[in-house]
Amino acid sequence: MNYKDILKKNWISLTKQRLEILGKIEKFHHFSYIDLQNQLKNTWRASIFRNLKLFNEVWIIRIIDYTEWAIKYELNDDTVHHEHMKCWSCNEISEFDDSELHSLFEKISKKNNFKLKKHSLLFEWVCVNCNN
Ligand SMILES: [Zn+2]
Ligand SMILES: [Zn+2]
Ligand SMILES: [Zn+2]
Repeated sequence: MNYKDILKKNWISLTKQRLEILGKIEKFHHFSYIDLQNQLKNTWRASIFRNLKLFNEVWIIRIIDYTEWAIKYELNDDTVHHEHMKCWSCNEISEFDDSELHSLFEKISKKNNFKLKKHSLLFEWVCVNCNN
C-alpha cells in the first residue's frame, strides 16, 4: 500500500507540508530526525516531530534503532521487509531477511491467540571488521 492510501485510510489529510516531508523520507534509506531536518530547513521543527510520530503510528515509517541519542527510522515497505542488525562496536547497521523468524512469530501468535500486526527488531552483534 502506498503512503497516500495509508494516510487516506486513517483520515489524515494530505497537506502540502506532509507530502513534502514524505517526499524527503522516500529518498532516505535509514534516517534520523536530524537528517530530515537538514533537508527541510524551512519547516517548523515541531511539525517534523509531530509528523514523524504520526507516520510511525500508522506504520508508514518504522523505528529501527532507538539506542542512540537520535532515533533512526526507515520507510516501512512490506515488499522489501527486513530486520536490522547493528554492530555494537562501530554502530554500522546492516539488514537481513527474517523469513525464518516470521514462521516463529506465526507459531507464537497462534499459541497465544494474538494476531501479529507489526514488529521491528534490532539485534546488536559485532560485525566482521570489529571482530578481527
Ligand atoms: Zn563493527
Ligand atoms: Zn533497513
Ligand atoms: Zn520481520
